Amino acid sequence: MTRTPLMAGNWKMNLDHLEATATIQRLHWALQDANFDYGKAEVAVLPPFTDLRSVQTVTDADNMSIRYGAQDVSVHPDGAYTGEISARMLSKLGCSYVVVGHSERRQYHGETDQEVGEKALAALAGGMVPIICVGEALAIRKAGEHVAYTLAQIDAVFAELAPELASRSVVAYEPIWAIGTGEVATPADAQEVCGAIRERLAELYGRDAAEAIRILYGGSVKSSNVAAIMAEPDVDGGLVGGASLDPEEFARVCRFSEYIA
Ligand code: PEP
Repeated sequence: MTRTPLMAGNWKMNLDHLEATATIQRLHWALQDANFDYGKAEVAVLPPFTDLRSVQTVTDADNMSIRYGAQDVSVHPDGAYTGEISARMLSKLGCSYVVVGHSERRQYHGETDQEVGEKALAALAGGMVPIICVGEALAIRKAGEHVAYTLAQIDAVFAELAPELASRSVVAYEPIWAIGTGEVATPADAQEVCGAIRERLAELYGRDAAEAIRILYGGSVKSSNVAAIMAEPDVDGGLVGGASLDPEEFARVCRFSEYIA
């Protein structure tokens, strides 16, 4: 089974719509200058909601191969939910992906695994691919419970998803202690948990489905460490925060296959 790697840049709450336009153009040019082969890795950016229309306009106008998506979605299809954004709205803007259950949403907005599963379901029903985030805090890692903790998140989120929906999803393993800290999990750390996630998905949905699902690693990924992480057999890409805000650096991350010996 060959899985096309995915490099997804999570811009978080950075870049207004004018900065977003310039950033995605610079990313496109940096990849074009390097004769980047999009068959080697799918490239996506995940801007704030307010940037999506501008990103859609510029990617369409310049016929870019870069995909984009949102950082969250409502569990509701429409109605009186002030401040929320529905899957239909995102789909209409050409989004391919929706991040669900990012640790910052879990931590600051109290999102539960069940809600994360419902959000994944909403994204899938809207024709988009959810990037389902899981991962442990430092205390859990220090207690040696990181694998069990992360698999419990997988069980709870995927309980919402029937097999045909599960196989259209992406998982991102993001140890919270490595997000935005400069602290990177070693390639072996990333493989330990990503491999365990794939085994659990195989138990839940069968081997073929598990081999088709892409599992990303996220946590201080940059051009200097991406190749070693991507060399691990169960790591199929990266969810990249800080490094994705610099388009030339993110282009170097996307070109990881050129640095793998
Ligand atoms: C993230 O935002 O999901 C992330 C992994 O951030 P960073 O790359 O900055 O650690």
